[in-house]
Amino acid sequence: GHDRMAGMVRDRSDWCISRQRVWGVPIPVFYCKKCGKYHITDASIKAVSDLFRKEGSDAWYKYDANDILPKTEVCECGASDWEKDPDIMDVWFDSGSTWSAVCRERPELRWPVDMYMEGADQFRGWFQSSLLTCVATQGIAPYKEVLCHGWVVDEKGKQMHKSAGNGMEPSEIIRDYGADIIRLWVASSDYTVDVRAGKEIFRQLSEAYRKMRNTARFMLGNISDFDPAKDMVDDDQLFEIDRWALEACNKLTATMRDAYEHYDFSRAYHALYNFCVIDMSNFYMDVIKDRLYCADDHARRCAQTALYRILVDFTKLLAPILCFTSQEIWSYIPKLDGMKDYVVFEQMPEAKAAADEAFEAKWDRIMAIRDDVKKVLEQARADKVIGSALEAGLTLYCSKEVYDFLNAIPMDELADLFIVSHVDLVEGEGGVKGLVEGLGVSAAHAAGNKCLRCWKYETTVGEDGLCPRCAKVLKQ
Ligand SMILES: [Zn+2]
Ligand SMILES: [Zn+2]
Repeated sequence: GHDRMAGMVRDRSDWCISRQRVWGVPIPVFYCKKCGKYHITDASIKAVSDLFRKEGSDAWYKYDANDILPKTEVCECGASDWEKDPDIMDVWFDSGSTWSAVCRERPELRWPVDMYMEGADQFRGWFQSSLLTCVATQGIAPYKEVLCHGWVVDEKGKQMHKSAGNGMEPSEIIRDYGADIIRLWVASSDYTVDVRAGKEIFRQLSEAYRKMRNTARFMLGNISDFDPAKDMVDDDQLFEIDRWALEACNKLTATMRDAYEHYDFSRAYHALYNFCVIDMSNFYMDVIKDRLYCADDHARRCAQTALYRILVDFTKLLAPILCFTSQEIWSYIPKLDGMKDYVVFEQMPEAKAAADEAFEAKWDRIMAIRDDVKKVLEQARADKVIGSALEAGLTLYCSKEVYDFLNAIPMDELADLFIVSHVDLVEGEGGVKGLVEGLGVSAAHAAGNKCLRCWKYETTVGEDGLCPRCAKVLKQ
């Protein structure tokens, strides 16, 4: 709104502050009954000011002019018989001087104030009258920032009216979805323009809400036996994908802090939503399931460490938007010394420096390869070659360069990344080409038998129905 504000101030050639109305804040001017000349002196202004401070501005209408002005006031013509100005101040003068009459008068308030916030029609009204009165008398604006917003309209963009029957009561939405859904709606909206509200919008938002809630629920469920004071694993021992997840959370922190600082709540909302759906639900949480449910203690603690650290930051980032849900999550998070009972009393997480470019590039590449693999797995599922992905064994036909890249990743980690039972790397041509240069993918039903515990297919499943890994873990 910066240009709008500048334009409206520039194009305003004058400001007539008097209005001919029967009631309002009076213009404290007197006229001589004999010669008709106006009378404004320090003493006359002080008399009115003292009276208003004592009795309020309605006193103007209660008393006669001669009772308000001190007897010592005399007109240039020698007379001392007065009448009051019948006009009132423009209401914008009234509200436009609240920075002085309210903010500077009351000890609990500050001046200049942090922010003036109102609808976009106030560029001509309150925002501007405040600016004019303050710049004229103090040389500065009365506010550090101005934030303006549009209005709520219905799903078709029409103004809400009781008579049109398209209004929405917040109480109805709260009854159906809970108050946090309204908060989520506020955060998700681009409030710089008119904001749409309607049943379908709230239904969609309740699904987004559920995604966020379920993300937290998964993390909480999987750290139920995790004591952060005892079980936390050091950074350098974490799996690389755990560090990738922490880095994704770090990026979320950076984006959301920046969005909050710029009151760009819809950007914060979208970052949060994408983190839950793309980074966590569709990737990280999916990939680490095997490690959380079936792996040995150390591998599991690594994943839990990442989940715990992500959940703590995630909940803090969520708190300004979903204040009820975030506290609900927070109350179940095992606390370390110094953590508060209420998440709103915590500090926002700080974004750390981004991971190095080689790390980023490596994971971008893994993601791209994963996308190609997923397409082939989907086709194999459609062709009834496999049911779940874990029934699949993959053969990746690689150029020398891609082979070296993938061969540097431990094979069982690679299988976990694609959530399949087995991966074979072959240097050469073959398989289905996707978007990744130098890679062909083919999927077949994995050889061997299904381990009863982890459901992966292994050629070495024992008589007890367990793969060697699971047999070892159970022994431990
Ligand atoms: Zn006079
Ligand atoms: Zn197993």
